[in-house]
Amino acid sequence: MNRLAIAIVGAGPRSLNLIERLSFRLKQEPNLPAITVHLIDPGLAGAGVHSPDQSRLLLTNTLASQVTSFSGIDPKNPKSAPSGPSFTEWAKAAGYRRLGSRYDKAGPDEGEPIGDLDYLPRAMLGEYLHFSFQRIVMEAPACLKIIEHRQLAVDVTTQPDEVVLEDGTRLPFDGLIIATGHCETAASPEDLRRQTFVEAGRAGNAKLAYIPSVYPTSKLSQIEPGAVVALQGLGLTAYDVMTELTVGRGGVFEGDARNLRYRPSGREPKVLLFSRQSLPYDARGVNQKGVDGGHVARFLTAEAVEAIRQRRERETGDRRLDFIQDIMPLLRKDMAFGYRCSKLQREIDPGSFEPTVEENAIIDRIFDPRHLLDAEDLESFRDRVVAHLRSDLAEALKGNVSSPFKAATDTIRDLRAGLSTAIEFSGLLPQSHRYVAETFIALTNRITFGPPLIRNAELLALIDAGIVDWAGGPGARAELPQQGGRFVIDTPFVADSARVQADALVIARVTGHRPAQDVRSLSRRMIANGLARAFRNGDYEPYGLDVDRRLRLIQPDGSLNPRAWAVGYVVEGPRFHTHALPRPGRASTQLNDAMLLIDDLLATLWPKPRLSPETQHAPALESLT
Ligand SMILES: Cc1cc2nc3c(=O)[nH]c(=O)nc-3n(C[C@H](O)[C@H](O)[C@H](O)COP(=O)(O)OP(=O)(O)OC[C@H]3O[C@@H](n4cnc5c(N)ncnc54)[C@H](O)[C@@H]3O)c2cc1C
Repeated sequence: MNRLAIAIVGAGPRSLNLIERLSFRLKQEPNLPAITVHLIDPGLAGAGVHSPDQSRLLLTNTLASQVTSFSGIDPKNPKSAPSGPSFTEWAKAAGYRRLGSRYDKAGPDEGEPIGDLDYLPRAMLGEYLHFSFQRIVMEAPACLKIIEHRQLAVDVTTQPDEVVLEDGTRLPFDGLIIATGHCETAASPEDLRRQTFVEAGRAGNAKLAYIPSVYPTSKLSQIEPGAVVALQGLGLTAYDVMTELTVGRGGVFEGDARNLRYRPSGREPKVLLFSRQSLPYDARGVNQKGVDGGHVARFLTAEAVEAIRQRRERETGDRRLDFIQDIMPLLRKDMAFGYRCSKLQREIDPGSFEPTVEENAIIDRIFDPRHLLDAEDLESFRDRVVAHLRSDLAEALKGNVSSPFKAATDTIRDLRAGLSTAIEFSGLLPQSHRYVAETFIALTNRITFGPPLIRNAELLALIDAGIVDWAGGPGARAELPQQGGRFVIDTPFVADSARVQADALVIARVTGHRPAQDVRSLSRRMIANGLARAFRNGDYEPYGLDVDRRLRLIQPDGSLNPRAWAVGYVVEGPRFHTHALPRPGRASTQLNDAMLLIDDLLATLWPKPRLSPETQHAPALESLT
């Protein structure tokens, strides 16, 4: 064999890391064979879910200065000089500037230069990722050939090993990497019931609409001005929806985050919010830790988790952990430590640190805000959450070092190594894994991984302008009444249940990769062909394809697929928090995964001369997003 063929399905950010690593390996090892990479994706190479064609109003929730596609020149040393620019450095070099609240290419006298604290549009992120792809390809050695196939892969066969594309083309491969990221799920029975309700009621109410997934957000144009929209889900996707339905309809924000007002265009609908708990997301504190700075885990470390695992094994014969019993006390202690350091504005000795009763009560309140959830009725719930939004915004403006609350919640961004060691590869008992996937992740998304603070200032301005309000409280559910052509949002409050009507129901949620529900056939076909299986932890099936620690796909009979690997969001399930983009100057799970996978693939497909893989699977050290 004198040329290896590697098929990569999915050309998102993860495939960039793979190609960069492959290129590095080929430059480093002259004895390796020439390689052809077949890069298969209908979208623009590198961009993945971040299409440059999406609305420019939608922002990343990661500081652009903390995003890069490039590893250090020395991949083993993240502090070594980077092999390419960060997102911010690229944006500046490409001529982008801040023009009020917009970002566009402009002359040096217009607007202001982009700085380290800017959150840039996701459309620009797509441009940056595609630039990164072009640069990585340009710098690749001659023996690495990359062929783009702008199509969907629909099947994978064995004997012969081939990827089948939607136009029927069959691409033979020696090695296959699945990096298909996010998936669009097929309509559920509930979706179908709601669609039928809308079709039946349209004649009586032309504003009736059901939108089960919001991307691309251009589909929100079907919502009529003046319609009442119930928006289910208060996470980052909800902010995209609110932005599109307000500024996207010609409204204007005036002032700054401390005092923002909204001037409506008159073309907005009324937006009413609800979710499982109906709690808003907390804003990210102004970053005071620099581009590569962060909290150093003191208690929830990979070593501490491993020690608990060993103790459990000695005591019970089972290495698996109980998240609430084993991990939460460490996480809470790191949060309390962050809180105290911020309060005292100095470092303290972790060796003698114990949280006080008061500090524990503060952490309890952050995790379980009974003071908000126990409201008697919708009006008092709404007043409480709006007051919370205002005080949280004030804390966010102080910054993630100066505000003890923000310092406490921000620690979670940097506890990834410990969390990964606990959670990944069925490290938790199944019921504990369910708690993490269905409750804990949503909780930390709300308190730590929320929107840039300007988004919550905008939310408050929209509430003040009467454009946004709450549809329900804790336990709110959307109902389809027998009579009457409007959705009803029902909340069982203690005093009285609230029933609020809406013309349109919009679901603002991003789902995990569930092979059985993916509208695309690839994962399902691979499972049917015996090449892969959905991940399960005991009787719990969260999401994602199953892989081992070297990212090899595991087949339905439990054996390792000899030729196929998977990486990125498609393996969120056996892995944890696969979606963060790499950060300059920090060790990164994504770059580490790319090294691990490429080294294993080369060592498997080209065993002579023996390669010495540089990387072992190690939980990432970088922050989340
Ligand atoms: C709305 C949204 C906003 C986000 N914002 C941020 C953010 O601000 N900051 C951040 O750090 N992360 C963000 N993320 C997280 C995101 O997961 C990562 O940024 C990153 O895109 C993950 O990379 P990936 O390569 O694993 O997957 P993806 O980006 O999903 O890329 C997968 C690619 O696979 C292709 N594909 C899928 N199936 C097939 C097939 N059968 N054949 C061929 N190609 C296929 C898709 O077309 C896509 O291009 C966001 C995610 C979403 C959904």
